[in-house]
Amino acid sequence: MRMIKYGLVGASGRMGLEIESLMQEAGNKAVLKYDKSGLWQEGTPEVLIDFSSPETLEKTLHLAREMNSPLVIGTTGYTDEQLSMINEVSQKIPAVLSYNYSVGIQMLLKCVEFLSDNLADWDIEITETHHRFKKDKPSGTALMLRNAIGKDVGIHSLRIGNIAGEHSVSFGGLGEVLTLTHSATSRRTFAEGVLKAVNFIVQKEFGLYSFKDVLFQNN
Ligand code: NAD
Repeated sequence: MRMIKYGLVGASGRMGLEIESLMQEAGNKAVLKYDKSGLWQEGTPEVLIDFSSPETLEKTLHLAREMNSPLVIGTTGYTDEQLSMINEVSQKIPAVLSYNYSVGIQMLLKCVEFLSDNLADWDIEITETHHRFKKDKPSGTALMLRNAIGKDVGIHSLRIGNIAGEHSVSFGGLGEVLTLTHSATSRRTFAEGVLKAVNFIVQKEFGLYSFKDVLFQNN
């Protein structure tokens, strides 16, 4: 795979550091970094990755437009208005947007769709557990799971310790309960998904893509 010049918004955060470490291992080169300490740049990124906070979105979209850089966005907690802004920009600049870049969560989404179609009269509840520093509640992934279920089910959020991310969906019938659980045991798994998304999006001309597209769409 050829070397890709990338920019990273949220470069000194937990995810930013994990992504930088994997991108370097893969032979890619950081040419732009942005976080609360400011902007560092020594070239034009071929892709701009954002794992920061919703407040940085305007800056990220401005940089992407200015440099015509495709986007890989993992930040969670956007408002509907911000999601529309991303959608609008993606009509000209290709973007991947996902609240979860792990392969296991994509599999969980498929299983949950199947079970909710087949267990229509069962109760369904989602539980999500994350580290104490996580700002948004419920998690973006819990919202994706609720969307896959297709109805307004309960979401229970715990913020404890240093857990990278745990999501469970319980289906309850009268006399039995079926629970599916996904645990992210390391942030590296998200960084690996980001690397896949980077290699995918640099080949696109425009459009908004999900991580599902990255994993399952034949280029
Ligand atoms: P963090 O707090 O450790 O890092 C955030 C980074 O963003 C820091 O570098 C900070 O300086 C920067 N930042 C925040 N607000 C800023 C602002 N207004 N201006 C400039 N820089 C700003 O957070 P984290 O744990 O690395 O998570 C970052 C985001 O990624 C969160 O929204 C989190 O929910 C999300 N996340 C997504 C996935 C996924 O797979 N999509 C996985 C993990 C985390």
